[in-house]
Amino acid sequence: MISQESAVRGKNSYSFDEFVAKREALDWYLDEPFLQKVVKKYTGAEYDEIHEKILAFSPTVSSRWSQLAAQAARPEVRPYVLHYDAFNHRIDRIVRPAETLELEKGVFGEGLFSSQMPAWESFVKRLLIHQIGEGGVTCPLTCTHGLVALLEEFSDEAHPELQEILEHTKEGLNGDFAIGAQFMSEIQGGSDLPANVLEAVPDGKNYRLYGNKFFCSVAHADYSVVTAKISGSDKVSTFIVPSWLPGDKEKEQRNSYQINRIKWKMGTAEVPTGEIHYNGALAYPIGPKDKGIAVAVGIVLTLSRLEIGIACAGFMLRASREAKLYSDFRTVFGKKIKDYPLAAAKLKQIEKAAERTTAGAFKIYDLFLRLEKPLNPGLKSDRPLEIRKQLFNLRELVLLQKICTTKEGVEVLREAISVFAGHGVMEEFSSLPRIFRDVVVNEQWEGPRNLLLTQIYRDLSRVADWYPPADFVSNVLAGASQETIQSFSAQLEELLQRPVLGEVSDASIEAAMEWDAFCSAFFKAYQEVALAEI
Ligand SMILES: Cc1cc2nc3c(=O)[nH]c(=O)nc-3n(C[C@H](O)[C@H](O)[C@H](O)COP(=O)(O)OP(=O)(O)OC[C@H]3O[C@@H](n4cnc5c(N)ncnc54)[C@H](O)[C@@H]3O)c2cc1C
Repeated sequence: MISQESAVRGKNSYSFDEFVAKREALDWYLDEPFLQKVVKKYTGAEYDEIHEKILAFSPTVSSRWSQLAAQAARPEVRPYVLHYDAFNHRIDRIVRPAETLELEKGVFGEGLFSSQMPAWESFVKRLLIHQIGEGGVTCPLTCTHGLVALLEEFSDEAHPELQEILEHTKEGLNGDFAIGAQFMSEIQGGSDLPANVLEAVPDGKNYRLYGNKFFCSVAHADYSVVTAKISGSDKVSTFIVPSWLPGDKEKEQRNSYQINRIKWKMGTAEVPTGEIHYNGALAYPIGPKDKGIAVAVGIVLTLSRLEIGIACAGFMLRASREAKLYSDFRTVFGKKIKDYPLAAAKLKQIEKAAERTTAGAFKIYDLFLRLEKPLNPGLKSDRPLEIRKQLFNLRELVLLQKICTTKEGVEVLREAISVFAGHGVMEEFSSLPRIFRDVVVNEQWEGPRNLLLTQIYRDLSRVADWYPPADFVSNVLAGASQETIQSFSAQLEELLQRPVLGEVSDASIEAAMEWDAFCSAFFKAYQEVALAEI
């Protein structure tokens, strides 16, 4: 018989239940007053309606979808490819867990790109959805956005199929919303798209693809945007490739391509990234022939890069909220974590970064919505100078936001994890480790940092004759102090004279380091202005 004394001996009544219950009860919109304030500022007359809709939407994403995303991230349910069915038919079926399928149905069922959906409502919903992390749905959502924009830009009467694809992705067919992907990177390079070697062989008004794509996220998609070179051309063109030809999806007979394997990666593990081999896949051309880089980068990648900034704002808001909650629960040496100045300082930094990033994302999106035809503007155009300048500002802000928010996102997530310390790195304790890995991936795809730093430098050099650097700085930082504007203008003018892109030397290494630091500081100053406006 166990004595009363031995029953208590060794018993530890410590419990996380109170923290977990509070975290699970959080509503990511209702309990985020700052986000509501930003929504109010930017949605103007639409605010009441959008606010009500988001209040109704938020509990689902904060609770059910968040849980589904966490469940779908378990290593034992990672997506895989089943190459053959039982009867020796090559099917390359992407197998994903039930949680992802439910999440996908819910998220895509929102019709976020439908003409019925107000732009700001879609934006805020996406900002909330990103807070679940990848979950196997946010990369697909972003790729679908790019596909819709591309189809809208180039509706082609010669290809009624494209109109049907647009309808299927944008408005849905009988409630089924199609999913898009974008396959551009090849084994020899992802940044250097002009080096693509995938061949598009003419076949009537369409093409047949031959060759390989090496990074194919959303391998389960219905349609993909693919870059390739038309036989005999050394320029890239863009195509839309259905994964199955009409009537073949049910039979699981893919459009003359095979998925060789699914990659094993450190983050965004819930979305299957395949390696694909095309052997005569039917492809519909889209956009001007041989202008595939401008089409793919100007529309599809621009939207993805814009979305990454929104995602990082979402990641940071969540990290800040959960770190604050834990610091108000956990005691160390008899005091709550938040009551130590060292912790309070970190929490404040995390919160400030989250708010600054959110304010910046809204401000950039506002500019995007206010400009007519904001995508694919190029550096040369016959539009009025003032509009060209604004389009240029947007172009550079999208690039800056992509590289700066992902870099800061990694730091913020790591700091938030540190508030939890050992429990912070436990995969089942919180979603922060998973989101941390997702941010690292966001830093690499859709253009890694040095590629985009190079692009920004080249862009600013090229437009200097009609858009002087000082003019650019004062327009982008409108609202900042004169001192700030003058300091950044002087730095930019000086850096544009330095050998940032030259051959490697002590001088060019120093200039490159200064360019990298300049871009971070300049974008932060832009975010500070955005934050002050809230
Ligand atoms: C998880 C994941 C999923 C992906 N999914 C897709 C997908 O669905 N579709 C798709 O098309 N791609 C996809 N990618 C590929 C991604 O877009 C590429 O990884 C990215 O474009 C970089 O290409 P790369 O990896 O070949 O690096 P590289 O192009 O080889 O770059 C290597 C290094 O060179 C630097 N660099 C590049 N250009 C310059 C320059 N001009 N000056 C100085 N430095 C430079 C880069 O910053 C980087 O540090 C995915 C990547 C990941 C990680």
